[in-house]
Amino acid sequence: MRCAGRSPSSTSIEAFPSGASGTSPRTGAPLFAIGRPHTCGALFFLALLCALIGAHIQATFGKTGADRLKGVIELVRTYDCIIAGAGPAGSTALRQLALLGVKAVAVDKAVFPRHKPCGGAISALTSRELDFDWRDLVEASLHTVELAHKYSHPLLCKSDQPFAHFVMRERFDYRLLEKAVEAGGEFLPGHAVTGVEREEDGWVIVHTTRGDLKARVVIGADGANGEVAHSAGLFNFERGIAIEAEVEPTDELARAYRDKVYLSYADPPWGYGWIFPKSGRLSVGVGTFSRRRGAIKDAFERFLEQTGLAGLPMQVYGHPIPTGGTRRRIWKDRILLVGDAAGLNDPLSGEGIAHAVLSGKIAAKHVADALDRGEFDFSGYQVEIDERIVSELARAAWIAEKLYTFPRLFFWLFEKSPETLALYFRLVRGEISYADLIDHLAGQFVRFNLFREERGGRAASQKPY
Ligand SMILES: Cc1cc2nc3c(=O)[nH]c(=O)nc-3n(C[C@H](O)[C@H](O)[C@H](O)COP(=O)(O)OP(=O)(O)OC[C@H]3O[C@@H](n4cnc5c(N)ncnc54)[C@H](O)[C@@H]3O)c2cc1C
Repeated sequence: MRCAGRSPSSTSIEAFPSGASGTSPRTGAPLFAIGRPHTCGALFFLALLCALIGAHIQATFGKTGADRLKGVIELVRTYDCIIAGAGPAGSTALRQLALLGVKAVAVDKAVFPRHKPCGGAISALTSRELDFDWRDLVEASLHTVELAHKYSHPLLCKSDQPFAHFVMRERFDYRLLEKAVEAGGEFLPGHAVTGVEREEDGWVIVHTTRGDLKARVVIGADGANGEVAHSAGLFNFERGIAIEAEVEPTDELARAYRDKVYLSYADPPWGYGWIFPKSGRLSVGVGTFSRRRGAIKDAFERFLEQTGLAGLPMQVYGHPIPTGGTRRRIWKDRILLVGDAAGLNDPLSGEGIAHAVLSGKIAAKHVADALDRGEFDFSGYQVEIDERIVSELARAAWIAEKLYTFPRLFFWLFEKSPETLALYFRLVRGEISYADLIDHLAGQFVRFNLFREERGGRAASQKPY
């Protein structure tokens, strides 16, 4: 395994797929061997020498001449494609590019395996995109979902097929990265991208905390806060937020939440809370798609109180959820965005791994094509993402708007019409699309005259409960 598992300060040579000579066996490009005393000494000497030569050249030839000669002296590693971020989107892109014979590297600010705040639900949609073995990582496969509205009115849904499989993201993401490196992709851990810059000759410079790299194309897979998107002027602020913790339950709580997914809607507003059981722990969180997210911490406290989990030791993490469903530009010049960086989360469920993987694959295909043709117009990438992902997310957004505005109404509908709920879970299992669900819901709205009911119920009484 060539992905490093140590802290950045002890970054070791096995983090790089390098040969004994300190060069990449595939590319022959020079690699910096960080962390070896004799190499550090050599590097320091080289840097000092370069600085002295640079100063001398500038004094002799002036700034322009010095700039021209700078390229000769600098050891900037060059690639066909640099991928910023090695989450599911970045690792998938790296693997696909390597399989297509493209000289690609993924850089990540983290050293893997790394923690990732996530429920770790692997839906049927995600499973379908994974063409290698990951099932040994599954900690639970659940056939039952308990749905509640503000912790009450529980509805139990059971299915022959599992609703989803549950994994720990640090192990899952590590497996994806292992597969990419196995396929021949290069990985540089502990390299935080600080910006990207287009050069006049077509190359893109990627600035990292460990020096510059250079490529013909750059894929921004650096997640919700995407530095690449910021740098390229493609950043989008449309997003929800979630708080998540892994909790070691008491025996009693472990029994109470064993074998089922627990979801409680409407607290926080425009969101829900979840409990996913895994091996010896529970993944617990709340998320909201509302623009007013200030109260998310209070909502998390309430969720813990209501579910009996308050007071258990836990490390809590917060993270944005960049939601999709509206068309936005996801490429510019030679820079493409994928996964969370492209805002491809489902605005109804918050699911994002499936589209991260799928967009990574689609991006890799378009990058390989562009490199072959020597033409770098990625409007085809935009069209494919819009058609295959964004259009479906737009339908999810349509349902989300109704469900999160009228959650009580939807619970009433689920009680009155169990087939509606069953249909939603067929969607979760990947058996139908959002378009099918919308067709069905539209029929139900007409049948039950739903929005009149909601207005009457809110004004007059406890109806529909
Ligand atoms: C609390 C929570 C729960 C969730 N639960 C689920 C779930 O159960 N199922 C599901 O399908 N989805 C879930 N999601 C969504 C899912 O986590 C994301 O959609 C998914 O991780 C996106 O993958 P990605 O590769 O695009 O980004 P990420 O997984 O975020 O990976 C981005 C990578 O980029 C690196 N990076 C960031 N900045 C830089 C930088 N400047 N330089 C270099 N590297 C950088 C990071 O270290 C990281 O490794 C959840 C999200 C949250 C917040």
